[in-house]
Amino acid sequence: MISLADYLQLLPKTELHCHLTSTMRARTLHELAGRYGVPLWTDDVEKLFDFDDLVDFLRGWRVAHEVLRTPDDIARVAWEGVEDAVREGNLRYREYYINPQYFAHHASPLSYVEVIDAVIAGLSRAERDFGVGFRVVVAINRRESAEAAVELVREVIANPRPEVVGIGQDDLTPENTEDPLRFADAYALAGAHGLRRTAHVGETPTASPENVRAAIEVLGCDRIDHGYRVVDDPSVLALAQERRIGFATTPWSTTICSGWTLDEGHRIRTMVDAGLPVSVSTDDALFFRTDLGREYREGLTALGLGIEDAQRIALAGIDMAFCDEDDKQRLRADFRAAFLALDALLAR
Ligand SMILES: [Zn+2]
Repeated sequence: MISLADYLQLLPKTELHCHLTSTMRARTLHELAGRYGVPLWTDDVEKLFDFDDLVDFLRGWRVAHEVLRTPDDIARVAWEGVEDAVREGNLRYREYYINPQYFAHHASPLSYVEVIDAVIAGLSRAERDFGVGFRVVVAINRRESAEAAVELVREVIANPRPEVVGIGQDDLTPENTEDPLRFADAYALAGAHGLRRTAHVGETPTASPENVRAAIEVLGCDRIDHGYRVVDDPSVLALAQERRIGFATTPWSTTICSGWTLDEGHRIRTMVDAGLPVSVSTDDALFFRTDLGREYREGLTALGLGIEDAQRIALAGIDMAFCDEDDKQRLRADFRAAFLALDALLAR
């Protein structure tokens, strides 16, 4: 006999919306910051992860990139993040946003290839050790220019890796907005070269449903990160439903970055009720003191969602993933077998 909380904890999971730097352990952050003499964003250890809002959090998040100085640091963090997520939430497959533009600004810059190959090395070792498959999505830093984004996509195209399957985004524009259309040229180039596309839209307090529409119609995304404003306009909701757009949501982060309460009136609940494909991720586990198990155990429960919803959400993560169809079929079979085993434990 297991409790509902145990059931949700043990449920096999995918995670599609996950920034690699945010999978770092707090003690690794401290250790590397000490080694390289990087001052963290506050001296008060108790308040290190107390953020007022999205803009406040992003200040800390940028600093955290500075402690990753070598390919070995990056590979270590990648591996440790998988070990933790398996223990904390039975992670089975993950996609990572990695933003090479931050590492180009280090005192000893790391190249695109150095960063990406370090990520792949760490995650490949973790796949051998824990059986967790992965893909990498290169994130456009919205703080940088539209031209820099095009340049980044050119690097992705010029240095193909089978593990690198698409482009996404992180950070905010210098004006602290989403502004999806600013990066239209980078997305067009990515699309022309067969890269998958996703974008962070519909999250911030000033975001509108039109940002979600732009990501779908102009950027060519078939998956959206956050996207909560989709339910604010019936015509955008209908567009997303018609095109079966998947949404990689992050419940806990919305309590900080969007200022919302997790309850039955939350937009994620409305998205689930509208039949949109919804998956659940941590976004930035280190900074928001969350983990994948907690997102299901506490997040879904607070939204008023039950076991069948949790199973549907776990499977939606497979449908929306950017991996091959063979990988998806294996994951679906594994997940369904695990559901049956867990159902038996719950009913006993
Ligand atoms: Zn994100």
